[in-house]
Amino acid sequence: MNEPSITNLGEALAWARKIVPPAEARLLLRHVCRQSAAHLAAWPEEALPPPQWDAFRALVARRAEGEPVAYLLGEREFYGRNFLVNSRVLIPRPETELLVELALAHFSHVPHLKALDLGTGSGVLAITLALELDHPRIVALDWSREALKVAMTNAMRHAANVSFLCSDWFTGLGRETFQLIVANPPYVAEDDPHLALGDLRYEPRRALAAGASGLSELTAIVAGAGRHLQPGGWLFMEHGYDQSAAVRALLADAGFADIASWQDLAGIERASGGRWTG
Ligand code: GLN
Repeated sequence: MNEPSITNLGEALAWARKIVPPAEARLLLRHVCRQSAAHLAAWPEEALPPPQWDAFRALVARRAEGEPVAYLLGEREFYGRNFLVNSRVLIPRPETELLVELALAHFSHVPHLKALDLGTGSGVLAITLALELDHPRIVALDWSREALKVAMTNAMRHAANVSFLCSDWFTGLGRETFQLIVANPPYVAEDDPHLALGDLRYEPRRALAAGASGLSELTAIVAGAGRHLQPGGWLFMEHGYDQSAAVRALLADAGFADIASWQDLAGIERASGGRWTG
């Protein structure tokens, strides 16, 4: 990229739009200037100081290389709130809001719910449930200490009451039991070509990939969940677009009842779950 002489917001935007999609150019410029979209639209003549132009150019260059917008901005929205993200955590995806909706549909009337979020990452599920349910007691765990730092920062940012635990699935939980377990585990097959495309190239591999079939972590979760669910408690898991039948079979083998799958907004069966009868 050569270095045009850019002096104002409008010129900077016009320059960036030749390199990245317009919506991304606007997001990156807003981030650098700390301004609203309306401000950018209304004041294209406003001066862009050289340090901000340098910062903007650097972000556009990184985006052009493929770095995810969420990591460049350092945040991503989930269920109407902004969450800090970095390359140690999966970028929150809209389809994961389905797990929030399932939890609320089953438990919004239950005060002091005991719930567990497995593989919390940036903490979006645990924190959203902490804020949407009625005074729940939520444990969120992850094997990654770096992910837990992000999740704890997010919990502080949103003043959400969540207990965090460093644990490889259930290993660190002792005999604790819950009324609800949610999980958005890794579920992409190791050889899935999507891992080499787009944002996924930059995301933690261990948060995405799960064995040859993509089912290894879902299998471990279903196998261990019964010991940590109270009778009548629910397990809800996100999974891949073609894994719902396999996950329902895992749940049936483990003795769950009321097994079902639910569609995301794109009409894809994206979550499955069941009730533990004890
Ligand atoms: N839905 C993600 C993707 O395929 C994967 C997320 C996950 O493995 N939990 O891009």
